Amino acid sequence: MIGTLDGKIPLGPLAEKWRTHRDHSRLVSPNNRRKFEIIMVGSGLAGGSAAATLGELGYRVKCFCYQDSPRRAHSIAAQGGINAAKNYQNDGDSVYRLFYDTIKGGDFRSREGNVYRLAEVSNLIIDQCVEQGVPFAREYGGLLANRSFGGAQVSRTFYARGQTGQQLLLGCYQSLCRQISAGTVQMFPQTEMLDVVLVDGQAKGIITRSLISGKIERQAGDAVVLATGGYGNVFFLSTNARGCNVTATYRAYKKGALFANPCFTQIHPTCIPQSGDYQSKLTLMSESLRNDGRVWVPKRKEDCQKPPNEIPESDRDYYLERKYPSYGNLAPRDIASRAAKEVCDEGRGVGPGGRGVYLDFADAIKRLGENTIRERYGNLFEIYHKITGEDAYKVPMRIYPAVHYTMGGLWVDYNLMSNVPGLHVIGEANFSDHGANRLGASALMQGLADGYFILPYTLPNYLAGQMGKRPSIDHPEFDKVETDVRARVKKILEVDGKRSLDSIHRELGALLWDKCGMARNANGLREALGKIPELREEFWSRGHGVRVPGTGEDFNQALERAGRVADFLEFAELMCLDALERDESCGGHFREEHQTPEGEALRDDENFATVFAWEYQGNGQSASPKLHRESLHFETVHLTQRSYK
Ligand SMILES: Cc1cc2nc3c(=O)[nH]c(=O)nc-3n(C[C@H](O)[C@H](O)[C@H](O)COP(=O)(O)OP(=O)(O)OC[C@H]3O[C@@H](n4cnc5c(N)ncnc54)[C@H](O)[C@@H]3O)c2cc1C
Repeated sequence: MIGTLDGKIPLGPLAEKWRTHRDHSRLVSPNNRRKFEIIMVGSGLAGGSAAATLGELGYRVKCFCYQDSPRRAHSIAAQGGINAAKNYQNDGDSVYRLFYDTIKGGDFRSREGNVYRLAEVSNLIIDQCVEQGVPFAREYGGLLANRSFGGAQVSRTFYARGQTGQQLLLGCYQSLCRQISAGTVQMFPQTEMLDVVLVDGQAKGIITRSLISGKIERQAGDAVVLATGGYGNVFFLSTNARGCNVTATYRAYKKGALFANPCFTQIHPTCIPQSGDYQSKLTLMSESLRNDGRVWVPKRKEDCQKPPNEIPESDRDYYLERKYPSYGNLAPRDIASRAAKEVCDEGRGVGPGGRGVYLDFADAIKRLGENTIRERYGNLFEIYHKITGEDAYKVPMRIYPAVHYTMGGLWVDYNLMSNVPGLHVIGEANFSDHGANRLGASALMQGLADGYFILPYTLPNYLAGQMGKRPSIDHPEFDKVETDVRARVKKILEVDGKRSLDSIHRELGALLWDKCGMARNANGLREALGKIPELREEFWSRGHGVRVPGTGEDFNQALERAGRVADFLEFAELMCLDALERDESCGGHFREEHQTPEGEALRDDENFATVFAWEYQGNGQSASPKLHRESLHFETVHLTQRSYK
């Protein structure tokens, strides 16, 4: 069905590819744009920016989200910052350096062409957001300020205290509102997409369910864009908003879209440790804190119970500074997370259960004063205080790695189009730019690059050949998909079981964390592949499985969530299969069988310098998904053992 997997990277020198591509892409004339209807699923930074920009260009956009307002998309949670190669600090940054850091940070598992384009447009994003009035932090003299994030030796992260996502989203939301008021964008809040409709093999519509009334509806369009975020919540506990899920991308996968690198998940080193079995959410302490905070554990196990301020300097192990002297506390996330796990596994962890390491600001406070630290990170210290009751100005924070971001997603080509014509995927929902490990502050950059500056050029390339091809919602394909959606909702309600949704989801999450989390091995993955179908069977078992009270005809959050957990229960299997097949370590995918003598990830470039893209064939072993590969070609960078020493 798919043939060769072609990323459609334009030919020519790296720095020319995007300009040349734009110069030769097809256009839709201004008078014709209003004849096209675009379905945008998602209104976070990726979907919101794309909807606003396409509306401004004159297309008609229907934008869907499950929150009550686009302003509540998960993007609002982003704290630390957004990268751009402005080189305002005059510290040697450049487009090339941002490109290189991103490719290396992703452990050489992303496409050069995409990543170079991302670095190139990063500077436009900052200009755009400043024009919108986003209140980025500034130096005394008025220039925009920068701070450092992991995996870089320059300061290129633009920020608005610890609320960068919120401020960027407000800027984006203003632009979206302008288009809503102009009538180019129609907003459908609290409306969940439950399936995509293909007509003659092209994405031409979706089926939605109103989360207020339960009404199931059809929406036809000339193209469908998924901007539906990441799937970290498959682990149950993560730093993601509770609503984040895989449903939109997974249902598209079941309609033929390839799912790329699903096992590439990012575990963030700087989160508040879990405090109990019934916790439903983990909280990030932004990576920006590692600009000034120093990470350490006691050198001796016996000291772990002592109050930290009573442990003298000589008895502390600043293990990141020791192991990675060049990058120190700003080692990339995958590396810093594994290092934390290692010291905790050695019995040197601190806090309840020994699952924590210290992030200490004492030196920075001595050097810069408490006020400066408060100005930089005040709201983060406040969050920490509210959750733990501890004052991090006085005692070190305790942190531990937690699931945070998913590099995997639907496979897209250079035009951000999946293998299903007309189905485009942007932001965290696609797999495109971060390889096996995303660098901090690069997700906001990618989401806004996709939405403001890439999709508005590449979508017309598809639309130009689609004039007059939008089907009616009476097309038989809509009948068929709507019937399936209704049947699924009914089936969930008919289970009428005994187990709570959370207990099943928590069990799935614990299994994944254990077998497909920070470290994986073939035996563990096989074990998980055996247990996931059993858990799924239990979920669906009539009279015994999941208990979903209420009906499908009104507001029913249990039903909403049950549909998402049902998808996680299938998707988890794909993740483990992907992790098993990728018989190497790279970035966040750490296969214990493949490590260097120092315990770092050991890649196998000869066999695995490829994207894994899975094609749905039906559930169960008899029809396991089919693997397609896209080879990654490196023309500019040399593949090396990644080193931050
Ligand atoms: C705590 C935290 C802090 C972070 N801090 C940073 C940072 O400082 N810098 C950085 O670069 N990155 C950061 N990230 C990552 C970054 O925030 C996300 O990757 C990014 O915001 C994702 O944007 P998005 O638009 O792709 O998706 P989202 O913001 O998740 O938006 C998804 C949208 O899709 C909609 N949706 C989903 N499914 C459906 C469906 N089935 N039907 C209808 N609508 C649907 C939702 O309603 C929502 O509107 C952070 C992440 C977390 C968890």
